[in-house]
Amino acid sequence: MAHVDLRRVRLPLVRPVRTALGAYDERDVLLARVVGAGGEEGWGECSAEAAPGYWHEFTDACEQVVRRFVLPRLEGADVGPGDVPRLDGWPMASAAVEWAVLDALCRRAGVSVASWLGGIRRTVEATLTVGVGEPVEPGPYRNVKVKVGPGSTVEPVHGVRLSADGNGSLTLADVERLAGLDHVEQPLPADDVVGHVEARRHVRVALDESIGSAGDVRTAAAIGACDIVVLKPGRVGGPLGCLAVHDAAVAAGLEVKVGGMWDTGIGRAAALAVASLPGCTIPPDLAASDRYFAADIVTTPARLSADGTLDIPTGPGLGITVTNVG
Ligand code: MG
Repeated sequence: MAHVDLRRVRLPLVRPVRTALGAYDERDVLLARVVGAGGEEGWGECSAEAAPGYWHEFTDACEQVVRRFVLPRLEGADVGPGDVPRLDGWPMASAAVEWAVLDALCRRAGVSVASWLGGIRRTVEATLTVGVGEPVEPGPYRNVKVKVGPGSTVEPVHGVRLSADGNGSLTLADVERLAGLDHVEQPLPADDVVGHVEARRHVRVALDESIGSAGDVRTAAAIGACDIVVLKPGRVGGPLGCLAVHDAAVAAGLEVKVGGMWDTGIGRAAALAVASLPGCTIPPDLAASDRYFAADIVTTPARLSADGTLDIPTGPGLGITVTNVG
């Protein structure tokens, strides 16, 4: 590995996105850039948001952590993804670097990240995420996820597979009102894993914020707390963490859904590669880039096909070309 550095980019969102935890109008994103010994460039995105809320890590803190504790241990060394230091409590920070290292490694080898991971899909069905209180209209997306809060109800829409995401803000009474949906993501707080056993009596449950590792998956499976594991490529420590969580879910008989939300074209390409894995049988929480950004930072942002699918990138590495990041 010849060189690793960090970039910080602010990308305006096409429309503010509202969740149970607040509204956002731009994405303040930390990027890791690796230039390998052969000159190949690799990129990774840090999933952290500008402020803690959804998750305890935030962009400023992740930048400090990577600069002080990750980069000094990589510079000049010939490293693979497994050599990127893992810091307890900072999976999003180190994930950015681990993705960049893997991107560079795969570019050098001329293979896609999807095939390196063991992916088997060429396309995936996309999912549109709709903010709290926004209407769901029939459109090209066959899967729609509605952000919900306490007291929310979700009306069925013809031809659309509907799910909801409580981001840990719901009660069991709220879950009961959502019983007709395909599944509900993280209805109860992240630390209330046991409470989700009860929630499953009403609807299929997907655990998101409760899942940070393969161990969390095994615990949830052992007590019957979920049907689906939400796999966030940035939150489980990068590509190797993704494989560990995916494999643990498959071994436990759970389905996997790749999650994403504010990803630029870099994070989206990584998430699409993960979504090509065999256990990822629930359509990923990924939409076309133009749903979120007027101008992405890759030359070929993810576009929705007429049949409501997104292509898994097949080019070397993440299969993207990064532009306009200073
Ligand atoms: Mg979620």
